[in-house]
Amino acid sequence: MRRCSCAASRLMRKRLLYPCAVAVLAAAIVCYSVPAAYPWGGEHHRITDVAIAALPSEEQEYLRAERSILVECYCTFPDINWPCYGQWGSGAGDPRAPRMPDTRRLWEVSFYTGWDPVLKNGKGYPHAPPQSWEAAEVSFLRAAHAFRDGRLEDGCRYMGVMLHYIQDSGSMPHVQPIHRNFHVKATEAIRLEGYAPRLLGKTPEEASQRLAARVRELTEWTEQRLGGLFESVEVLRIP
Ligand SMILES: [Zn+2]
Ligand SMILES: [Zn+2]
Repeated sequence: MRRCSCAASRLMRKRLLYPCAVAVLAAAIVCYSVPAAYPWGGEHHRITDVAIAALPSEEQEYLRAERSILVECYCTFPDINWPCYGQWGSGAGDPRAPRMPDTRRLWEVSFYTGWDPVLKNGKGYPHAPPQSWEAAEVSFLRAAHAFRDGRLEDGCRYMGVMLHYIQDSGSMPHVQPIHRNFHVKATEAIRLEGYAPRLLGKTPEEASQRLAARVRELTEWTEQRLGGLFESVEVLRIP
């Protein structure tokens, strides 16, 4: 019995390490993004994909069942949490335009992001610093608690939200105010060679705080690196 509970606690400890490692990984990988023009969202898929591929094989195995949907869908949750999903008009209200896929309801996106834009329930976070740092921290804790309880699917969905906010905070195509104006066309240029994930803390709480600080550092680093570009955006008054 005792051996059993030790094994369980070892497993639990181990599971808590996964979101920690993934978070660090995601925070680091956004440094490798390069700007170009491409439909919205492609970078999120690629960054998430490459981040998971950099994890130790044991951790990749832990995520295996949810891996492809995490890459293809969960990491875009904050971008598909709009009331227009499921409505006619392709998001612009034009009745002749096709109906938007109702991905928001299909995946309970409002539940996992913590904000329902129709019922106005919960707390929503802008996709830009400084609120995006807080969103990453909050989602990290939700993911860690779900993993701790053995809810892999829930954990991966919260982790998708967390990854999205980290990516929007610091990656070159997604950092504000150039979000939506510069995108990566050659997403294969997003790589993470030679990076080894690090633990952010011994408890989820400690790790979540360190994550928020890490994302903040990352944002500052990116903004510094993009200084000239920000000035151009300002001059051109690109929203
Ligand atoms: Zn976004
Ligand atoms: Zn984005």
